[in-house]
Amino acid sequence: MLSKKTRKYIFVVGGVLSGVGKGVTCASLGAIFKAKGFKVTALKIDPYINVDAGTMNPVEHGEVFVTDDGDETDQDMGNYERFLDVDLSSESYMTTGRVYLTVIQNERAMKYKGKCVQVVPHVPEEIIRRIDNAAEKHNAEIVLIEVGGTVGEYENILFLEAARILKLKHPSDVAFILVSYLPIPSHLGEMKTKPTQHAARALNSVGINADFIIARGKTELDKPRREKLAIFCNVPADNCVSAPDVASIYEIPLLLDKENVCNKLLKMMHLRPRHAGLVEWKDLNKKIAKTKKEVKIAVVGKYFSTGEFTLADSYISVIEAIKHASWFNNVKPVLEWIDSEDFETNPSKINILRQYDGLVVPGGFGGRGIEGVIRAIKFARENKIPYLGLCYGMQLACVEFARNVLGKKNAHTVEIDPETPDPIIHISPVQAKNVRENRYGGTMRLGAYECVLMVGSKTQKAYSVDKISERHRHRYEFNNDYCEMIEDADLQIVGVNPESNLVEIVELKNHPFFVGTQFHPEFKSRPMRPHPLFREFVRAAVGRRV
Ligand code: GLN
Repeated sequence: MLSKKTRKYIFVVGGVLSGVGKGVTCASLGAIFKAKGFKVTALKIDPYINVDAGTMNPVEHGEVFVTDDGDETDQDMGNYERFLDVDLSSESYMTTGRVYLTVIQNERAMKYKGKCVQVVPHVPEEIIRRIDNAAEKHNAEIVLIEVGGTVGEYENILFLEAARILKLKHPSDVAFILVSYLPIPSHLGEMKTKPTQHAARALNSVGINADFIIARGKTELDKPRREKLAIFCNVPADNCVSAPDVASIYEIPLLLDKENVCNKLLKMMHLRPRHAGLVEWKDLNKKIAKTKKEVKIAVVGKYFSTGEFTLADSYISVIEAIKHASWFNNVKPVLEWIDSEDFETNPSKINILRQYDGLVVPGGFGGRGIEGVIRAIKFARENKIPYLGLCYGMQLACVEFARNVLGKKNAHTVEIDPETPDPIIHISPVQAKNVRENRYGGTMRLGAYECVLMVGSKTQKAYSVDKISERHRHRYEFNNDYCEMIEDADLQIVGVNPESNLVEIVELKNHPFFVGTQFHPEFKSRPMRPHPLFREFVRAAVGRRV
């Protein structure tokens, strides 16, 4: 166990607007420190009152990323896992709700020994305890802490207060990075520093001075503006880092390393600078730049639109997994979002799917757009278009199969039709009780479970082992009464949980690639190690092209 005395804390906070790239910055810094040989971990703070991200709508909040130990967390945790190539845990994620819940439970248990329990210091103390806990759990000498939201909001103030206290106690062990945005208003055509100046001031007003500014923007940060930021934000010009938009987020570790950010941080925190090879990152980026041949993948789902916007964030791990697998197969992924509701209002539109090399149906909940999804799956099955169904995508593939191959016209998942005569996807009594009693938070089947694979199946060959562990997030299940029926009709059950006998993977015979998983393989894909199922899915898609 590494000593707490030598631990370094780097807080990454955001200025001006959200979605500016704090998560990727944090993840990239982690990747660089790791390449330098440090033991590093990253931690996400979500300022919401929600205890976890499981109860948040993905259109508003983005993907719910699930850890091995079954925590429902923020999508940035996925970036950390992908960039650091580690498995994180529930210790690596906190929300306001979670912090308060512990403080209140402590109070009820007399843990404060009769003291007045106060917002300060008790809440920041709990925050700091959680940060140290994450560092200990992941045996880290450097811990990167991303504070969600932007500075100047009410919501994250107590987290910044915790950071300030930590800095006061350990001045040479704590650093602050402000990731901010520098707009270029079209009528001026000039990059403006003022919003970032305000963000730096907002940070000053809670007793924190940024040590670095990561200047996000459309273009490079030039010298005059760098100097302006330095003077007005009280940050050395050398620490104002240019971070223009890039084609791929996987360029960021190289970009930040070129700016020498980590070595400057190390020096600041009294550690000796080290060289980072970043060979794998360089190779990956070369490969990304070089691949020209395209593979066209359609992602069919419903969490795509909020007003005028399409929120690919709802499925970020799926997108990244497709990218990783495509680069591995030397192709450039062209992803298109297809709103399944279109197939309901205009059934002939289904033919557009013919243009694609592969079809993915990701996870989801509820009835909107479901009949459109089922039509898309039928099209992929009948037209031999490679298909990968993830969680809901597996359940609905089973519903489609029951209806159109087994002839059970009214088959459904009981999530949508509780009265269906053919509940091929059903619910366990325990889960039914959770729903009846409105116990939604943290009660799904969550986290890693083992799965035994059928030797010789495409799936098993992809994994090249016969026992795997994958992450889950679902309430409904395949109904084992239908096992024989689907298998007799060539939809094979190729993955089963050895303890509960739950069906985890189905695979269609006589099809180039038609696989549905009850789990979410996308959570375990890494840029340098694509997930085997995505890898084989893309391989099949490329095969359809030639
Ligand atoms: N709605 C389905 C269930 O709860 C699938 C969930 C998912 O796709 N993550 O079981």
